[in-house]
Amino acid sequence: MENKSIYEEIFEKPCSVCGEKIKKDIYEQGDCPYCKWKNNHFADINPNIVLYPNLISLNKAKKLYSEGKPFEPDLDEFMEALHSYSEMQFEYNGAYYAVELVYDKNKKLVISLYNSQTKESTIFNEDEDFKNNAKVEGKLLQDIWNDTTDRYWLQ
Ligand SMILES: [Zn+2]
Repeated sequence: MENKSIYEEIFEKPCSVCGEKIKKDIYEQGDCPYCKWKNNHFADINPNIVLYPNLISLNKAKKLYSEGKPFEPDLDEFMEALHSYSEMQFEYNGAYYAVELVYDKNKKLVISLYNSQTKESTIFNEDEDFKNNAKVEGKLLQDIWNDTTDRYWLQ
């Protein structure tokens, strides 16, 4: 008898994005060393939704992979990730920003943009308000999104 439980067993299976044989556990979890996709069962059964720990959907990853592009979220995907995780971050011009879902004093869910350098927060009513009006260094976030880095779950 083996002592190892089935839950610790590792299987050789194809990556859901690039198809290379990688190591996956019983939950289909396994980081792909080839394309960098974080394989998991929930992404496999919800291919059009942004789900932790990835910042883009499985189908978007397949598309970007086929185009030879990195798995970077656009602003819409970043907002989708925000709603699944509540706390996100990005870096711009050396400063880190936190984007968080918070409750205002009227117990309404709003979006907070926090500048870790100035310690200032700006509040937005909902996604459209954030996407259209959020600014960093006086520039609209949607205009400089491609210049941001380290877009990720808040660390
Ligand atoms: Zn892969």
